[in-house]
Amino acid sequence: MGATGFRMQMVNQSSEQVDVRRNLLAVRAEIDAAAAAVEREPNSVTIIAVSKTNPPERILPALDAGHRIFGENRVQEAEDKWPALKEAFPDARLHLIGPLQRNKVRRAVQLCDVIESVDRPKLARSLANAMESEDRRPDVLIQVNTGDEPQKHGAALADVDSFIEECVETYGLPLKGLMCIPPADEEPSLHFALLREIARRHNLPELSMGMTGDYPIAVRFGATMVRVGTAIFGPRPPLPG
Ligand SMILES: *Cc1c(COP(=O)(O)O)cnc(C)c1O
Repeated sequence: MGATGFRMQMVNQSSEQVDVRRNLLAVRAEIDAAAAAVEREPNSVTIIAVSKTNPPERILPALDAGHRIFGENRVQEAEDKWPALKEAFPDARLHLIGPLQRNKVRRAVQLCDVIESVDRPKLARSLANAMESEDRRPDVLIQVNTGDEPQKHGAALADVDSFIEECVETYGLPLKGLMCIPPADEEPSLHFALLREIARRHNLPELSMGMTGDYPIAVRFGATMVRVGTAIFGPRPPLPG
């Protein structure tokens, strides 16, 4: 069985059978192989275990297995789950990977360690203000709408260079890199290459790209963070409510 077949087998397990520890090892092995293929250091790639919609009892096995970096896409859900998990595992790190509304910025700054979805000047300004008042400075990534899809979040390609400069120079944000979610029906590698090129222009070290379906490709194109949910936790439970 090829590596991809192995991953899909993991994905297809029912929730009761999900072996999170084994899945983490399998994802790590694929990353290491993809990195080796392009002569990158395997440990230059971080796994963000995307735990959205999974309850704490499904997240705990990952923490027990020693994993510490997680992603959530909604501030409210993160607030419901993560204060207690962080109390139990103080070195756990939380990335916000979903759209951020300005009325939730202060709470995101309090709880998150990396905010990956900064995509517009008003949000950048709110974040800068909240970091000042909360005296807490989570790292920031700019989400780029590499496919220029009208319905999708992310800075437009035409604006991204000036927005990057604005985040650093006007707002003084701790900007570390870029994030993208390629269009579902397109070859992701083109988008990964584009994101890497924009980051290179601005000397930004971090590239958050690649999900369950395409993270080995993302690693070959320079991802430093892959956001993997399904391949680790199995099929996602539906949102409560
Ligand atoms: C849900 C989500 C992921 C993880 O998706 P999988 O396909 O389950 O790995 C990654 N990035 C973002 C922004 C997400 O919302």
